Amino acid sequence: MKQSKSMNDTNQGILHRACPSCLGTKLEVIWRKSDVDFAACQRCGMVYIPEVLESYATGQFYEDRTESFYLSDDKLKSDYDPVRFQREWALLRQWVPSGKVLDVGCSTGGFLKGLHEMGDYETMGCDVSQGALNQAQKIGVTVLRAPFLSLPVTEANYDAITFWAVLEHLADPAAFLAKAGSMISSGGICILLVPNLHSLAIRSIGPRYRYIMTEHLNYFSAAALGQMVARVGGWKIERVTSMHFNPVVIIQDALKFREEVPDAERAKLLKRTNRWKRSGLMRPLKAAYRNVESVLSRMLAADNLVMVLRKN
Ligand SMILES: [Zn+2]
Repeated sequence: MKQSKSMNDTNQGILHRACPSCLGTKLEVIWRKSDVDFAACQRCGMVYIPEVLESYATGQFYEDRTESFYLSDDKLKSDYDPVRFQREWALLRQWVPSGKVLDVGCSTGGFLKGLHEMGDYETMGCDVSQGALNQAQKIGVTVLRAPFLSLPVTEANYDAITFWAVLEHLADPAAFLAKAGSMISSGGICILLVPNLHSLAIRSIGPRYRYIMTEHLNYFSAAALGQMVARVGGWKIERVTSMHFNPVVIIQDALKFREEVPDAERAKLLKRTNRWKRSGLMRPLKAAYRNVESVLSRMLAADNLVMVLRKN
């Protein structure tokens, strides 16, 4: 399979993947973007990238662009904005009011820093990008430097492990969920947030949507995610919902097809979105927006799918 110019590296191997949800291998290519094929599993409907550069699996890809994206001024402002993780904090606190929390793919630590300030939490983060971890440490977040799958298996003593927008980046998301299961205490909580295959955004503009991108290897529906959770085993699904809705992104992407939206521009829009959320002038519009978001959430049609799991 051809890969995009920016990802082309002759020294790199290609991983061939089965469906991350059902392990099926019959697929049909449904989208093509940046010279990469996106396929639907013919058994369960999950959409994924079947052939992936190894740098995504090892995390090297993220290490390489730490400076340009994760540590850019606009991205940091967006990550540390007090409104950025509002919904995520509320969700975690509802299920785990205190205790030991590990955030996998913590990036520069925005979620953990805020959570730590909110209550009696012992917080820890891990990530494949050492540069992002350095930044997280700088703002007082405790970090684990080893790759998540290589963390030593000690006693299962985490009260919660969170994956905010992480599983879509992974060549083997089931392995990460199984690892989380080995680290969470019995009755503890695991929260998964992934882009929603059945979102209004993807249903209406398909591959034009900017978050259908080559670093997003997996596109789960609620059914496909639930199926993967069942296959890994050891979990009770407590809640399935969807959250976040950004109509500006949908409108921009509908009007203008681009293979890739530059990192700098994505970070800038994230920052601007946070500013809109805070602005008082937007109050009447915000009420309408909240209604739409709440209807979409209940229909499981908002941008991200969220699953709350309890360890048996
Ligand atoms: Zn499948």
